[in-house]
Amino acid sequence: MPAVLAEVLTTIDRLWPLEGAESWDAPGLVTGDPDATIARVLFAVDAVRGTVDEAIDARADLLIAHHPLLLRGVTTIAEDRYKGALLARLIRSGCALVAAHTNADVVERGTSAVLADRLGLLDLRPIVPGADPARGLGRVGRLAEPTTLGRLARLLAEILPPTATGVRVAGGYDDHVEIVALCGGAGDSLLSDPAVLAADVYITADLRHHPASEAREQALVGGGPALIDVSHWASEWLWLDAAAAEMRAAHPTLDVQVSELRTDPWDFQVVQ
Ligand SMILES: [Zn+2]
Repeated sequence: MPAVLAEVLTTIDRLWPLEGAESWDAPGLVTGDPDATIARVLFAVDAVRGTVDEAIDARADLLIAHHPLLLRGVTTIAEDRYKGALLARLIRSGCALVAAHTNADVVERGTSAVLADRLGLLDLRPIVPGADPARGLGRVGRLAEPTTLGRLARLLAEILPPTATGVRVAGGYDDHVEIVALCGGAGDSLLSDPAVLAADVYITADLRHHPASEAREQALVGGGPALIDVSHWASEWLWLDAAAAEMRAAHPTLDVQVSELRTDPWDFQVVQ
């Protein structure tokens, strides 16, 4: 039995409350009629040509993307721009689009929590707790068995879906690691957070030269974590399965699928 989009939106707001989103964010319904009937849902990290095609080819009625297609002000959705083209295609095909972004990062089963869970971290707490101390950005926890930085990076490479850029590490291969801080997606804003500085390693994505270099130099002076930089897409893709399971539990009659399409923008890397 299908559901009505408005009912699914109510579930989305229960699982990933919009009030938990960062002030700059734009989660929620991007396009779609709340009265529309929903039978099939596809989860993806990004609403891009590949995942929109996949949703429409699969006759999905709703695409739930982690990243908002529309984040900043727009003055046109003309179809000679890719966002306009995607929106027009979704609307003509009767497929709604919802973004669940930072509101899905902060919850107990959010992007960072799922990654932490896959690494087997214990005593999890947010790096930046919110009003509800169980919720917030990033996670810090303890490995059940201490390991080395190299082994942890190899474990990450096994857990994450393959990408061209793989797993990059700043620190010694044999460095001892037990306390792990992590933030799915771009987490350089947390580099100087006390919980990150107190960890043995900080795992995040999109680390650029200057933030990474400055963090490592400061670690030489005042202590600080090794760094592991992974694919932004890969670090958040793991969340999709958990999100889909929560959606199935709420709406057992819906057909809920997860896109396996790699929407990481990098296609290959030449190793020197
Ligand atoms: Zn992201």
